[in-house]
Formats: sequence, structure tokens, C-alpha cells
Amino acid sequence: MKKPLKLYLVLLLALIAILTVAAVVYGVAKHQLYDKEILNHQKQLHENMQSLLTDQQNNAITLALSLTENPLIQEVLINPDDSAENRKKIATLVKRINQQSDFENLWLQLINLKGDSVYRSWTEKTGDNLLKIRPEIQDMLLDPKPKKVMSVGKFALSFKSMSPVFDEQFKLLGVVELITQFTPMTKELFFETGVSSVLLVDKSYKKQLTRVDQNSFLNEYFVANTDAPSKLISLLRNQDLQGLLNSKGYVELNGYVVRKWVLNDENGRVLAYWLTFMQKNKMSFENASWVLQKYIFINIAAILLLLLLTLQFINNRQANTEKRYFRQIIDSVSDIVYITNYKKIVDSNSHFFEFYDEFEDIEAFLSKYTCVCDTFVKEDGFLQRTINGEYWIDYILKRPYDSHKAKILRHGKTHIFQFKIKPMQVGTQRLFNVLMQDITRVEEFKERLQKLTVTDELTGVGNRLACNESLHHEIERAHRYKTHFSIIMLDVDHFKLVNDNFGHDVGDVVLKEVASVIFKTLRDIDKVCRYGGEEFLVLLPETDKHSAVTIAERIRLAVSELSTSEVPTHITISLGVANLTNWDTEQTFVKRADQALYRAKDLGRNRVEVDELTAVSEQPVPDDNAH
Ligand code: GH3
Ligand code: MG
Ligand code: MG
Repeated sequence: MKKPLKLYLVLLLALIAILTVAAVVYGVAKHQLYDKEILNHQKQLHENMQSLLTDQQNNAITLALSLTENPLIQEVLINPDDSAENRKKIATLVKRINQQSDFENLWLQLINLKGDSVYRSWTEKTGDNLLKIRPEIQDMLLDPKPKKVMSVGKFALSFKSMSPVFDEQFKLLGVVELITQFTPMTKELFFETGVSSVLLVDKSYKKQLTRVDQNSFLNEYFVANTDAPSKLISLLRNQDLQGLLNSKGYVELNGYVVRKWVLNDENGRVLAYWLTFMQKNKMSFENASWVLQKYIFINIAAILLLLLLTLQFINNRQANTEKRYFRQIIDSVSDIVYITNYKKIVDSNSHFFEFYDEFEDIEAFLSKYTCVCDTFVKEDGFLQRTINGEYWIDYILKRPYDSHKAKILRHGKTHIFQFKIKPMQVGTQRLFNVLMQDITRVEEFKERLQKLTVTDELTGVGNRLACNESLHHEIERAHRYKTHFSIIMLDVDHFKLVNDNFGHDVGDVVLKEVASVIFKTLRDIDKVCRYGGEEFLVLLPETDKHSAVTIAERIRLAVSELSTSEVPTHITISLGVANLTNWDTEQTFVKRADQALYRAKDLGRNRVEVDELTAVSEQPVPDDNAH
């Protein structure tokens, strides 16, 4: 597998792992946050229920207290038997209170000092003594003060609010008892909070509830509030009701958050269970949502950041690998390679510092030079900082197929470098890759080779090739500038005899000496080359026929005077002079000089002859002032 692919796979797996953990944490956090939120809602609900309960009881007590002042009630308590009229009036009063108050169902009972019930708003039945079955009445008569109790009777679960009745002399007459029910409260709770209630009287009271509709039981439990929604009752019917009533905290049921609240009597005995049903989809989870949104946002941001950092890391690693790879390549090149952004050098290979060895890095180099071109030797035919007004880099770039050479002097030795420049685009940057190839040895070799090809090995003067090249060049020049040009063809006389008499080696020495003498006789602009075996051609640029003859004579004389220990015999030469005409080619020109030479031979050797045409010509070239 490729490395980056492997990295991406690891990254992908890490991402999946992070997302999984984040999702699990999200799930747990969501549950906990929602739980906390639900508990908050429940706490709020409980406070609502508490205040509803106390309000209801306080209102009932206040009402009971106000009734104690009522003369009708006092009358009935004093004379229970003769107050049919009063009873009717009290019944009307109770009816009116029922209509106008929030109690919905309110009952009134009056109890006299003996503990007898003397008036009941719900029945005609009176006169029975309550002291035995209602011990709190006994307490009340002994210690008369307002009292409230919650209890289960024959009819329902109810609040009983009792207040002592006194006459004007503050003599105790009896007790006023108001009995109210729960339904107003459960209704009020629904109205205020949207929470439905099912109030279940504990099953231990089942037998006691003789006067209730037997259909109002849910299992063994009596449903004490009339507003309990039948939907919820049937929902509960299908549940493990006992389990629900025993549970702590809340239970989730069909989209409801159900919670039981236990109602105890004053002795701590369980009277009833108030089940509240909050609709979960109507609950506000604003805090939880906000926290979860923050969590998701932070997670996404963290993952994005992680991704970004990882990609950056991968990129950097790749870039570093590429850089190392690139450096290895440019270091492995035997030439100097450096990168410039046109204005300055930005990087180089190690060979750069092997050559510019007084510098350790690019900064050090740039502190002395602005450019490699500052080290170029100024010489024609070699690169300079600017060539014909063009910056050297542009000059090379425009001529990619030419050979560009620069001379650089280092430690007293001149190096010749061949430069190649390739532009490259790196990101948004345009860079130039400069290759400096040290061709000093090649150039030296070439120069030597060049010399060899045009030099006669024996005499050291130019060879036949050099003769031809120079001849061609000088004829062209003379034609172009209309100047004189003369040549002398010369040949050693009876040279065969030298060889025959003294040996070939001596013959060689003679040839060398002759060449040397000719060379010394000539001017700088003249040239001599060995045209054949013992035949030499002398080129005399800008020289008319007279001067040429003079020079020829001088050469003839010099050779004839040649005497060294190594030359054992008298050496002479014959010479033929020709002067260039407008219609001459290389061949015709040389031929004329040759013919003059042969005439010199014929006429006895050791003499100068002018070619016939040259002799008669009227100097076809205009300038006659050369010599
Ligand atoms: P002439 O005066 O008519 O020129 O007579 P010559 O003997 O000089 O002419 P010929 O052409 O008969 O002989 C030329 C001789 O030069 C023949 C050849 O062996 C000799 N020769 C040519 N090249 C060399 C050389 O490089 N070294 C030596 N030692 N002899 C050479
Ligand atoms: Mg010859
Ligand atoms: Mg000869």
C-alpha cells in the first residue's frame, strides 16, 4: 500500500473512532441533561402542587372561620332541634358558596359540644356522635383552634377544614367543618402547567369508600379526581401499576413523564398517590438543547481542526520528503545547480559551495555577491552580467539552443562553465534552475585538438589545412576591402639529395630550420605554412607584388645564408610570387604562384620569379599604398 493511502486510512479510522466516542458521549450527555431538565421541571411542578394544596386549605380555613361568625350557624349549634328554617337558610348559603367559589364541591358539617353532628349539607341525617370515629374532633373541643386534615371518607379523599365557633361571650358552641375535594386543584394544575393528574386513593381504603361509584376504581385504587383523563386511566390499566407506585423518581410512559407524589395524613399514613403526567414533547429542554448544540459545535470544530492539522502534517511530510528527494537528486548531479528567483539565489546544491568554497551558505554568498554573474571574467565571447543590454538570464532563456559559456577565476585558475537555465513554476513562484557545467578541461582539450589539426608536427608552422583556411579567409577579406594580397610558394632545391646524402633525419632538421628562418623573416600579420613535403606557402596580406617580391628575396637570402652545425650543406630555395586579382579563386591563385615557382626552378633555382599575370597586371586593386 502507498504511504499516503495508509495515512488516509489511519486518519479515517481515527475519525470514525472520534465520531463514535463523540456520539456515545452525546447520547449519555443528552440523557443526563434531559434528566436534569426533567427533574427541574418536576421540582417546579412540585412547588406548584404544594402551593395549590396550601392555597386550597388556607382558603377553606378562611371560609370556615368566616362561617363561625354567622348567627345562623351559631343558632343551629345552640338549638339543633328547632331550627328547620335556619337549616334551609344554611343550605342556601352552602349552595351559593359552591356556585361562587372555586371549591367546586364543598360540604359543610356542624358539630356541637357533645360531638354530635347537628347539620350536614349533603344529607338530612344528623344527631350521630362523631367522637369515637373522629378523634380529632375530641382534640378540637378540648383545644379549640382552626385545624385542617386530609382524609379518606366514604365519598372521597378530602380536605377537612375545621374551625371552633364561639358566642359573643367567647363561649365555645361547637365546630364548623368544611369538606373540599382535590379536583379543583388537579384542574388548576392542568390549567396552569398542562400537567394532567390521576389521584389514586390507597387500596387500604377500598372498603371504607362505600359511597363511591365502583367503576371509579383502577385495580384496587380509587380514582379521586374527576378530571383524570380516561386515556391516562386506561394507559395505567395496562401497566404494572404497583411497580409504578413503588418507583422512585419519574417513569417515561407513552411520551409522558409520570411521577407519583405521596399524600400522607397527619400521622404519616399513606392516603393517596398523586400521579402527574407531563407531556414530554411539550416540555422545554432549552438548556439541554443549548448545551448539546454547543457540544456538537465544539466537536465539529475540533474534528475540523484535527483534520486540518493532520492534512497540514501530511502535506508537510510530503513536502519534506519531496524536498529531501529533490536535494538528493541535485546533490547527485556532478555539476553546480542552484535555484534563483531571478533577483537572488534561493537554494543550491553542495557543489556550489565546493566551488565557492569561502562561503558556508547562500546568505554568506549573497553578503558578498548579488549574483553568480558578479564572478564572471569580462571577456568577449563569454557571458557577462548584461549582454547587449540584456540581463544574462534573459539572454540565455531566449537562446535555449546556444552554448553559453562564462569564465570564472577561482584561486588563480580560470574555469569555463557552460550555463543552462530552465524556468519552473513552484506554486505561485516562478523560479529558475541554473545548471553550471565545468567544461574547463573539455575546452582545454578542444583547444589542443584545434591546434593539432592546423599545425604541422615537424616544423611547428601551419599545415596544409591551415594554409587553405587562411588563404580562403584572406582572399575573402582582400576582395571585400579591395586590398592587396600576395603569396609566395617556395620549395627547397634538390632536397632529395639532402635526404639521400645525409639521411632523412637530417632532411627533417633542414625542413625545421628552413621553416624557422622563414617565420623569423615575416611580419606579424604574415603567415607561413607547410604546403607539401619541402614546399611552403607564405601569405602576405595587404602586400602588393613589389613588396611581395622584396619579401621573397629576403627569405631566399635568409635561407641561403642558413648555416648551423646540424645543416651540413648549403641550402637554397626557389620562390614563386603571385598577387591576387579580382577574378582569382584559391585554386587559380595558388596555381599561379606554383607556376612562378616552377619557372624559378627551370631558370636555375635559388631565385624569385613573379607569376606572369602578376608581372603584367596593372594592380587591379585600388589601394597601392600597402608597402
Ligand atoms: P627540385 O630542386 O626539383 O625540387 O628537386 P628535389 O629533389 O627537391 O625534388 P623532389 O620532388 O625530387 O624530391 C623531394 C624530396 O623531398 C622527396 C622526399 O623524400 C623528400 N621529402 C618530402 N617530405 C619530406 C620530409 O618530411 N622529410 C624528409 N627528410 N624528406 C622529405
Ligand atoms: Mg618539391
Ligand atoms: Mg625541391
